Amino acid sequence: MNLLNFTTPFPDEQSCKLKWKEMRDKAGVVCPHCGGTAHYWKSDKECYECKKCKYRQSLRCNTIMHMSKLPFRYWFVAFRLLTSTKKSFSAKELQRQLGHKNYDAIWALLHKLRMAMGTRDARYTLSGVLELDEGFFSTETQEEEKQQPLKRGRGSQKKSKVLVMAERRNAARK
Ligand SMILES: [Zn+2]
Repeated sequence: MNLLNFTTPFPDEQSCKLKWKEMRDKAGVVCPHCGGTAHYWKSDKECYECKKCKYRQSLRCNTIMHMSKLPFRYWFVAFRLLTSTKKSFSAKELQRQLGHKNYDAIWALLHKLRMAMGTRDARYTLSGVLELDEGFFSTETQEEEKQQPLKRGRGSQKKSKVLVMAERRNAARK
C-alpha cells in the first residue's frame, strides 16, 4: 500500500468532498440548532440547510473535521494510512508526504483521527480498501451544549466539541 494506490478512488479534493457528503447523508445529518433531521442540500454553498429552522451547517460541521481548514483529501489520506497499516507513522512523516507547511495542523489532524479510531481500530485492521463508515463520521455535541440555545448563524458552532461516536462495548476486546 502506498499513497499512489490511494489516489485512484479519490483523485482530488472534489471527489473527497462528495464521498464525505455521501457518508454524512448515510449517517444522517442532525441540525445542531433544533435537532431536525431533514435537510436541503445547498450545492452552491456546499452546506446543509435544516428544513425546520433553516439553520445552515457546512459539510465539516460537527464532524471530525469541525473547524479544520485542511483539505478533505488530507483527512482521507491520513485515515487511509492509519487504517491500512499497523505501523505508526509520525506527524512529521505525514507532513512531509503531504508537503504541508504547518506541522501543528498535521499533528492535530493525526491526533484527532487516532482518538476517533482508538476504540475502533480492530474493525479496520483487515480492511484492504478504504473503509469509511457512518460511525466514524458522526459526531455529537456535548449534552450541556445541546441544552443551551444556539445562536443562529456564524460562530454559533464554535463551542461545540468534536466528539466522534465510538462504541463503548469494546471493553470486551481486552
Ligand atoms: Zn434546525
